[in-house]
Amino acid sequence: MTVDNSYTDIRDSVAKLCKDFPDVYWRELDEVRGYPTSFVQALSDAGYLSVLIPEEYGGSGLPLSAACAILEEIQRSGGNAGACHAQMYTMGTLLRHGNERQKEKYLPKIASGDLRLQAFGVTEPGSGTDTTRITTKAVRDGDHYVVTGQKVFISRVEHSDLMVLLVRTTAREECNKRTDGMSVLLVDLRDAVGSGLTVNPIRTMMNHATTELFFDQLRVPVENLIGEEGKGFRYILDGMNAERILIAAECIGDARWFIEKSSAYASQREVFGQPIGKNQGVQFPIARNHVQTEAAALMVRHAADLFDSGERPGSEANMAKLLASEASWAAADVCIQTHGGYGFTEEYDVERKFRETRLYQVAPISTNLILSHVATHELDMPKSF
Ligand SMILES: Cc1cc2nc3c(=O)[nH]c(=O)nc-3n(C[C@H](O)[C@H](O)[C@H](O)COP(=O)(O)OP(=O)(O)OC[C@H]3O[C@@H](n4cnc5c(N)ncnc54)[C@H](O)[C@@H]3O)c2cc1C
Repeated sequence: MTVDNSYTDIRDSVAKLCKDFPDVYWRELDEVRGYPTSFVQALSDAGYLSVLIPEEYGGSGLPLSAACAILEEIQRSGGNAGACHAQMYTMGTLLRHGNERQKEKYLPKIASGDLRLQAFGVTEPGSGTDTTRITTKAVRDGDHYVVTGQKVFISRVEHSDLMVLLVRTTAREECNKRTDGMSVLLVDLRDAVGSGLTVNPIRTMMNHATTELFFDQLRVPVENLIGEEGKGFRYILDGMNAERILIAAECIGDARWFIEKSSAYASQREVFGQPIGKNQGVQFPIARNHVQTEAAALMVRHAADLFDSGERPGSEANMAKLLASEASWAAADVCIQTHGGYGFTEEYDVERKFRETRLYQVAPISTNLILSHVATHELDMPKSF
């Protein structure tokens, strides 16, 4: 029994599409740190990356739980949706807070795949998790903002046409609340790169196309301000629930991939004249992974349902992300152990997925910060920062 009896048609067709991108495809990209261009194109052509865009703008207007099913199936197939998942949730900032002119200009082209909006620039070296301390600033100069500063770990910039960027338009010290004074700009990367924006790739332990960004007097038209100046932090927070629920769904897909891999290998690998999976020391950890994953999947579904019914499920999105990322990491660890030495070899793909799934306990929000949210918002305990 698995908690995945929703959107079976979508799941089946995503799984079919993923068959054209087998393990060897991802393994070879991992080796050269390549971007899965043909996979992302196939997903776009099939309309999967625009499911959350309303029909009036050319998308299919499906709920978040449908997007969860898509991402989960990609991960379950052995692939990595991290290359493009932001296309789904980043446009939410534009959809919810952009003006009609901006939505009409960009959303249909994003839906058709002619424009990619999959970069989301928040994190800075000096602020880390404390977003209110970002210092990248935008100063108004006529009908432009002039942006100066630095961002780090901003993913997919090299494979995106547009970026949602969080900047300070008023210094923190001059604001009544530390969350005030930040604004969201939609940066057209096609104009910006080389004209005030420098992009440097960061090599990480997995193939994730992340970069650091340097802004030196980058001019962004004022018409690209999303919503009201100074209210950007709230707009970004609105998008984070969707992001956490979607990434939790990816973790469920990862966990299921590891569990299927572990149980299949344990059942066929014979040592001491019998399958290793006959030994309960091998069998029970895999069974425990399954239990943990199904419990996490229920929380992911609950959070997605709340989101789809119009609620702002901050705690549930956080709890889903924590449970799912811990379930996938536990399943990854057991999968390596079950495979013995072979778990470490590239050809089994376990070590690649092991590296990939570790990210989700740190990004987009780390486990400690989730626990802090739960302690203070659900349990009314004092805040530590
Ligand atoms: C591969 C990758 C891709 C990424 N992609 C993007 C992206 O596209 N866009 C973007 O904006 N960001 C991105 N990030 C950044 C990511 O969101 C941050 O790395 C993450 O939020 C943690 O911030 P930090 O790295 O500065 O860690 P820090 O804030 O320095 O934290 C370090 C550790 O200290 C802990 N910690 C900090 N404060 C507290 C506290 N008060 N209580 C308890 N523990 C605490 C944290 O939990 C963490 O474990 C990406 C990161 C990676 C690695």
